[in-house]
Amino acid sequence: MKPDKYLKNYIAGALVPPESGEYIDNINPAIGQVYSYIPDSDERDVQRAVEAAEKAFPEWSSCGVRKRFRILMRVADIIEQNLEEFAKAESVDSGKPVSMASTVDIPRAHENLRFFATAILHFAAESHHMEGQAINYTLRQPLGVVGCISPWNLPLYLFTWKIAPALASGNCVVSKPSELTPMTAYLLSKACMEGGLPPGVLNIVHGLGPKTGQAIVEHPRVKAISFTGGTATGRKIAETAAPVFKKLSLELGGKNPNIIFADCDFNQMMVDTLRSSFSNNGQICLCGSRIYVERPIYERFRDEFVKRTQFLKVGDPALPVSDLGALVSKAHMEKVQSYLKLAEVEGGKILCGGTPVEVGGECEGGYFLRPAIIEGLPISCRTNQEEIFGPVVTIQPFDTEEEAIALANGVQYGLASTVWTNNLQRAQRVAERLQAGIVWINCWMLRDLRTPFGGVKHSGVGREGGWEALRFFTEAKNVCMKY
Ligand code: NDP
Repeated sequence: MKPDKYLKNYIAGALVPPESGEYIDNINPAIGQVYSYIPDSDERDVQRAVEAAEKAFPEWSSCGVRKRFRILMRVADIIEQNLEEFAKAESVDSGKPVSMASTVDIPRAHENLRFFATAILHFAAESHHMEGQAINYTLRQPLGVVGCISPWNLPLYLFTWKIAPALASGNCVVSKPSELTPMTAYLLSKACMEGGLPPGVLNIVHGLGPKTGQAIVEHPRVKAISFTGGTATGRKIAETAAPVFKKLSLELGGKNPNIIFADCDFNQMMVDTLRSSFSNNGQICLCGSRIYVERPIYERFRDEFVKRTQFLKVGDPALPVSDLGALVSKAHMEKVQSYLKLAEVEGGKILCGGTPVEVGGECEGGYFLRPAIIEGLPISCRTNQEEIFGPVVTIQPFDTEEEAIALANGVQYGLASTVWTNNLQRAQRVAERLQAGIVWINCWMLRDLRTPFGGVKHSGVGREGGWEALRFFTEAKNVCMKY
């Protein structure tokens, strides 16, 4: 299963060029050069995809869960059998180390498909008995044609996280991956063809967000939108979809706090804090970017954290020794650098990193940045309020539990948070008061796919994961039968 130079849309079961005949450059961020071309799709391609999905819907929604289970499991197997090609493609497209793509991104992608393929076999609805009078039962029916739009940071991982529950519950999908990282979605189209997914059940339309993505969101026959991406884009999508009463699931940005109490297991905390700060160059919505440390261990933490961060190897994503690869694009690297400048203007001290890395060789033109730690900034400043989404964290001491909670909650976002303590009562107290959809205690990014996933405040609306996703992609209808 090889990547191609010219990608095609996957519509009605076939790989087809865009109606416009136009293509967008696809850049390998580790070398800073164009290496393939993506369809520049518009509303005509989306229209064809919606028509194909509508045509496929009656059969797909009524074929029974066992058939859907078997087909999705086959597609998952094909991804797993081609893990190496998928991982390489993900790494080249996004700049992340191939070691990460092959152990995190791609395994999770086939796991998503398997998880929802099997979940649908066990999905059930309620009944409510009115004794001696009537029985109510809830029919959970697929919505029809739904739109799934995903970002570039965990490309196939997040793409399959949406389309798997949508398809398992009997919907047909019109989807769009990020134009920055389209390759593994393209390989997925091939896997679906090989796996026998009926034509039109899944359609993948490549292109730009404001053009292709917007056309999906606007299309009157697309019943629901499941979106993961930035908060500003989420707002725009809500403005378009809410007035026409589309169902919406919005997984948006984050500015996640890590609260570290002095009584924690220091070594374990340090290992995980390094991961939660800089995995995938900090380009994971769940990364902790504001680190609050109880004063008695602040200096010890700071010195050790800086030392270990300086040890991280930034380099060619194709090499197994690289801990961090390239940032996803030139524009994104410039955005991250602009925040580093801003941090200094705001009075922050950059303790390490923040400078471009000359990787050399093939990667001479790549977008590499040394991970940065900043100290001395108040919660109110932009560096601590806005999502940077790069290898940049701020650190700050705190004195009381109350202060730590106030700092953690002091931003508009509320996606994930991490608490490090060995005091059980405190862990529970803090977890209850944190304004976040996810609280990790003494761990980070430990995921059980059955759990609800999503954010509060400006981090989103709705929940993905487990039954939540299957409920989102089905409509509940109450049937009341008198007897
Ligand atoms: P964007 O919001 O820029 O884009 C996300 C997707 O939406 C892309 O496919 C994009 O296409 C598309 N898009 C852009 N404009 C529109 C539009 N008007 N209508 C429809 N679709 C559109 O996010 P990024 O790709 O930059 O991803 C990073 C963001 O995602 C961060 O804020 C991060 O926190 C968030 N995120 C949230 C997660 C969560 O679970 N809460 C998980 C992962 C990331 P194109 O790429 O072509 O512009």
